[in-house]
Amino acid sequence: MIKIKEIHKSFGENQVLKGIDLEVKKGEVVVLLGPSGSGKTTFLRCLNFLETADQGKIVIENQLTDIATATKKEILQIQRSTAMVFQNYALFTNKTALENIAMPLVLTQGKSKNEARTIAKRLLKKVGLEDRADHYPVQLSGGQQQRIGIARALALNPAVILFDEPTSALDPELVSQTLALIQSLAKEGITMILVTHEMQFAHDVADQVVFMEHGHIVESGTPQELFYTPKEERTKIFLSRFT
Ligand code: ADP
Repeated sequence: MIKIKEIHKSFGENQVLKGIDLEVKKGEVVVLLGPSGSGKTTFLRCLNFLETADQGKIVIENQLTDIATATKKEILQIQRSTAMVFQNYALFTNKTALENIAMPLVLTQGKSKNEARTIAKRLLKKVGLEDRADHYPVQLSGGQQQRIGIARALALNPAVILFDEPTSALDPELVSQTLALIQSLAKEGITMILVTHEMQFAHDVADQVVFMEHGHIVESGTPQELFYTPKEERTKIFLSRFT
């Protein structure tokens, strides 16, 4: 359903992505693991055009886009198909929980305000925050803010949700709630690519685990394969700390 081919990205002399290929089936959960600095976040950001890769191709919803020559229209289409959930939630601080979810629907999908509010209310309920609709981010806990971030992504009904370390800014007691929500979305068949350092969660939720290092995919496979029978020495060393 999603095919990503040969993504390259450098920041100046620093070659951060050195040809990343990935296929994600509909309903699949792909977890990206790897040491800090291996390029995981940059890869997600390139998929969403928050960064523009130097080279690569993306097929999403049967549409092939060559990144190097992508038109504005193609970029917008990919951005609509890929919603991002950020480490630091990235909510608008001067908007309520409901507005944070509804506003992007009006701005990027041309929904009417009423329609957007109805969708936002449904999603607030889904993430268990219907009683927080009129709260501002500062009045919400980190875990609640992240659930708003997830509701905002879901509202856009994208082909895939990209999660960039969604729990790494949360206090430990809030992590498990957020992971449980992501796990319930996985069970519903929402396609997702997740960067996380939560190994037990990665093991439990992933259909496909991808181990990245130095801008390369070292190895990928099922959680069973990567965690218990890794082929590559680097994967073994990285994951041995968790198994
Ligand atoms: P990871 O998510 O695996 O920790 P990142 O994708 O965040 O890795 O970073 C990979 C490398 O890219 C790092 O060396 C980082 O310093 C560099 N990098 C990331 N974003 C930028 C940027 N906007 N400008 C310059 N260098 C960047």
